[in-house]
Amino acid sequence: MKREDFLTRASSNETFDILIIGGGASGLGAAVDAASRGHSVLLVEQADFAKGTSSRSTKLVHGGVRYLKQGNVSLVLEALRERGLMVRNAPHLVHSLPFVIPNYHWWEGPFYGIGMKVYDGLAGRLGLEPSRYLNREDVIELLPNIEPQDLTGGIIYHDGQFDDSRLAINLAQTAAENGAVLLNYTRCCGLIKDGPHVAGARLRDEEGGLEFEVSARVVINATGVFADSVRQMDDPAAQPMLSPSQGIHFVLPREFLPGETAIMIPKTDDGRVLFAVPWHGRVVVGTTDTPVEKASLEPRALGEEIDFIFTQISRYLTRDPERKDVLSVFAGLRPLIKAEAGSTAALSRDHLISISDSGLITLAGGKWTTYRKMAEDVINHAEMIGALEQHRCMTHELAIHGAQQGEADTSPLSFYGSDAAGIRALITAEPTLGKALHPKLEFVEAEVIWHVRHEMARTVEDVLSRRTRALLLDARASIEAAPVVASLIAAEIGRDKAWIEQQISAYAELARGYLMPD
Ligand SMILES: Cc1cc2nc3c(=O)[nH]c(=O)nc-3n(C[C@H](O)[C@H](O)[C@H](O)COP(=O)(O)OP(=O)(O)OC[C@H]3O[C@@H](n4cnc5c(N)ncnc54)[C@H](O)[C@@H]3O)c2cc1C
Repeated sequence: MKREDFLTRASSNETFDILIIGGGASGLGAAVDAASRGHSVLLVEQADFAKGTSSRSTKLVHGGVRYLKQGNVSLVLEALRERGLMVRNAPHLVHSLPFVIPNYHWWEGPFYGIGMKVYDGLAGRLGLEPSRYLNREDVIELLPNIEPQDLTGGIIYHDGQFDDSRLAINLAQTAAENGAVLLNYTRCCGLIKDGPHVAGARLRDEEGGLEFEVSARVVINATGVFADSVRQMDDPAAQPMLSPSQGIHFVLPREFLPGETAIMIPKTDDGRVLFAVPWHGRVVVGTTDTPVEKASLEPRALGEEIDFIFTQISRYLTRDPERKDVLSVFAGLRPLIKAEAGSTAALSRDHLISISDSGLITLAGGKWTTYRKMAEDVINHAEMIGALEQHRCMTHELAIHGAQQGEADTSPLSFYGSDAAGIRALITAEPTLGKALHPKLEFVEAEVIWHVRHEMARTVEDVLSRRTRALLLDARASIEAAPVVASLIAAEIGRDKAWIEQQISAYAELARGYLMPD
């Protein structure tokens, strides 16, 4: 993927079949689907791929046990099917993980045990391992730090886990390999109409400042929590259809949850589910559900959300985490579809496709787990609205960039799948590139070179937040790694000292927002 080539192509008066606005799970999934059917596709993202909600999830590929509790069987069924396809098509990024529901009351064993059997049954052929009851000793063996007082036993079940922004990058690469043109740092500033119909967009290259127009037979708005702002570019009177809800997570050192098993707490004080999940050698704990008024690219955790997670997780661990233990705090906004009434926890997690009078297609809601199905649905609509030739969806069996079969790679480069060999080759050619970016981070210099050359990384933040996950894994260490990363990028893309200084300070300012407030 070469940004310069993509920019030349996008600004060269070509009419694309499909223009997609937004480079998160929804937009990138749609780009893969459309390009693999043979349509010409341009995707534009105002910041970096997955800069929005799609890098801020709980990292689960799941049917959603809580939706089962709500009786939303069809949603669970669809998500479990998609979970199976993701494990199959992106095995380097999506894997099965054991979860234990610890039981502290006599009724919890049979209650959750039956629920999880239903969950197993709904997964059918694409199921992971079956759930089963555990006695008290088994639970303590799997979760040595679990609170033992009043513990009666537990249920073990399996769900999927993944790396969200790495999957986004690999989806961008898959789309590009199928002929799509993708531009990060390119904002849609307005829509172009041909009579009453949307016929393209006005775009701005946020790096070089170039403004240009692009024509397309059909335009898809996949801008997540920003979807209403693009709908209002189409029709200033359009009523908001989204109700964003914030969820936050902490990242803790592995010693709080040693082993390879996650904890699932089915009911917190506010009736939600809480997870503590091993991820990249740390533990991700979350999440919350707080209605927010405004969409933002950098939402911040609120004091009450932080207190809530400390209180809830401390009940289940022998050692209570303290503020000083937290390596990073991150927040994300759910693009929930508005309901007439009720709390945000009751709003729909299902996706919605809406078509305006001008033919603008908006794809909103859903979750990462169902990105492929959402993409299939929206491209079926796009073919009709844009009067495009209709083709069969190809993504059920389409391998995602990096997928490789055979023995699972357990090295720190395993998340690159088949690209790990290319990174190792860089180190062989220049052994100094094998140096770690920071003593507390498992990433090496060669990865940065790879991100710039093959993954369209443009800034220090792109590398430390979404190509590696350093920002989430240890925000402080990532600030200290920024100067090395800035120099490596500058040497690759020809930037001067002033650019390096600007990048280091911009990154430090951003990353300070991920440190636990005092
Ligand atoms: C706290 C939390 C936990 C979650 N956990 C899970 C989970 O474990 N598993 C799961 O399956 N799902 C999970 N989800 C849901 C999932 O993350 C989201 O449904 C999904 O990431 C939404 O993707 P999206 O592409 O619709 O939105 P986004 O990822 O927000 O992408 C929209 C993009 O559009 C861009 N954009 C906006 N305006 C413009 C413009 N004018 N021009 C160009 N680009 C523009 C933005 O910069 C943004 O990058 C979670 C969500 C949250 C908030």
